[in-house]
Amino acid sequence: MIAVLSGLSWEKFAAEAEAAITDPGVRGVVVAAGTGLGDRDYPSDTTRLGNVLRRIETSGKPFVAAIAGRAIGASYEICLSCHYRVAADDNTTHISVWDAQSGLMPGLGATQRLPRLLGVKPALSLLEGRTLNGREAKEAGLVDEAVLPDRLMAAAREWILTENKTARIPGNIAAPQFGVACALLRERTLGLYPAPLAILSSVFEGCQVDLETGLKIEAGYFAYVRSTPEARNLARLRQWREELDCLVGRPASVPKSRFSKIGILGAGMMGSGIAYVCADAGLEVTLLDTTAENAGRGRAAAIAAFDKRVAKGGLTAEARDRAAARILDTCDYRDLKECDAVIEAVFEDRVVKADVMRKTVAVTGDAILFASNTSTLPITSLAEAWPRPDNFIGMHFFSPVDRMPLIEIIRGKRTSDACLARALDLAGRLRKTPIVVNDNRGFYTSRVFATYVNEGMAMLLEGITPSLIENAGRLAGMPVGPLVLADEVSLDLLRQVRGQGTDPVDEVLRIMIDRCGRHGKKTRQGFYEYPAGGRKRLWPDLAKWFPPRADQPDAGELIRRFRWIQSLETVRCIEEGVIGDRRDADLGSVLGWSFCPALGGTIGHIETVGIGRFLAESERLESAYGERFRTPELLRKMQFGG
Ligand code: NAD
Repeated sequence: MIAVLSGLSWEKFAAEAEAAITDPGVRGVVVAAGTGLGDRDYPSDTTRLGNVLRRIETSGKPFVAAIAGRAIGASYEICLSCHYRVAADDNTTHISVWDAQSGLMPGLGATQRLPRLLGVKPALSLLEGRTLNGREAKEAGLVDEAVLPDRLMAAAREWILTENKTARIPGNIAAPQFGVACALLRERTLGLYPAPLAILSSVFEGCQVDLETGLKIEAGYFAYVRSTPEARNLARLRQWREELDCLVGRPASVPKSRFSKIGILGAGMMGSGIAYVCADAGLEVTLLDTTAENAGRGRAAAIAAFDKRVAKGGLTAEARDRAAARILDTCDYRDLKECDAVIEAVFEDRVVKADVMRKTVAVTGDAILFASNTSTLPITSLAEAWPRPDNFIGMHFFSPVDRMPLIEIIRGKRTSDACLARALDLAGRLRKTPIVVNDNRGFYTSRVFATYVNEGMAMLLEGITPSLIENAGRLAGMPVGPLVLADEVSLDLLRQVRGQGTDPVDEVLRIMIDRCGRHGKKTRQGFYEYPAGGRKRLWPDLAKWFPPRADQPDAGELIRRFRWIQSLETVRCIEEGVIGDRRDADLGSVLGWSFCPALGGTIGHIETVGIGRFLAESERLESAYGERFRTPELLRKMQFGG
């Protein structure tokens, strides 16, 4: 008899594996992975489960993992302790030895078994956490066979009945040089995440000893990583994201809205991206622009995004064609008839926006959900151009729309609960993560993000060298430095949003735009120069306009400034009622502008540092750099549980 273990809790899995091992009537066992077993999470007692896996491995009875669905992290580690692995070759099978988002490291033997199975180098590369489909997993060696899904169980059984003489129990391997791997890892993670370094150490140390000892070494590192604030922060962000995806903040009394047809005004960069996500979610889309040509171009851009997925094998050509057929490009407002919601993404100009609203309402009536994708114009005043401002809301998508998971939903003063609920329902339908904020200059994300860019420019005016500024930005956990971001946003737009002021930032923008004639990346001339065909580099003449001072600060001071200024501004947003829920603040910062997730988001950062130390440091920064580091009153009252 062949036993099949499928969809079990950890406890039941352990018990049934043991029963199968001791039952002489059982010839072999198929472990159906991807069915919920060990789905992502590790049990609190990994040692016990680790012992069960070792027992499976050494039982003398053939165990085969049959993978269909998600076998990621813990769930794949179970497969590794089996003697053979078969995966379904389809689009729904996802295999990864490590879930990097979890904040943990493998804790059920993967850092020991994988190097012994594949060799250290390939194992380390897979331990970076790439997710593969069945066929890719076969090529990489994560599974032994990839078969059509309906052949999966049969292939697993066949192996038990015919082939299992070749069952391998991982042996020992020689330890290669780790110096380079360590250096490359440092370059990639900048020491911000404990898990990757612990994985490397566990592999390295495990290579020198037998498997049993190696498993103990891994257990030690796993316990350490699990106890770090970074692991807590990442786990919590993941949990909060699931909550926001379930629309926790949605006014409960409003019945759920259904959508079938969405109108999108403006078929430019944002409009075409929004059309793509709507069509991808199965909605009919009317994509409208001033001319048929513009609208057609927007539709083509949306289809190109589907094409990319087809090329990568993630979507069939038929599915792409069906999605493309759902997008109608037009310049005729009558095509907006029967839309349940309309999202405008025309030029950032209130006169243009008011004009398209007037033309829309004549066709759709004012009872639909009308959302603006404005990035800077206040929602409350834009709403005045819609006959029913209670049905008007901001839905701020991020660029590129197909890849950025966040939508910032902005309530105007008169936006109703029903309208908010509808906008949240639409965000959910588009499979985006929504945060809800109140109307205010820059809303939440742009306002706080700007403090990072501005701080970098203020540093430049102080005579800090640009390369130090940019590196410190990355060391603070931001994906790129503030000056390159300023170039990307465009220096003109930064000034337009700020108006004419007297802050250091305004002075830097005046020098760059008015005196140097540099406007940012779009003109290939900003803080960086962008040679055609070459790599961008910092503009050498920056030193002439912003002479470096003799005594450069250490990077630690700059890192603190970058982190503190963003956290302080977030506290101000909470104090002013711009944002009400901590989950929105933290996830908005991580998903909106890539604030370091290991720090837990902009509020999570305060908790990670500790409120006492954070306050003391704020006060010091205020006396050193002035008003923008002023401590908000709310911060003094903030408390963090646990
Ligand atoms: P874009 O210039 O790429 O596209 C604007 C489109 O609107 C153009 O195709 C234009 O022809 C069309 N348009 C202009 N007037 C129109 C009218 N009267 N009727 C119909 N169509 C009209 O601009 P974009 O970057 O897509 O930005 C659109 C909106 O989204 C702006 O409000 C912008 O602030 C906002 N936004 C932009 C970003 C970003 O990163 N670019 C991010 C979030 C929000």
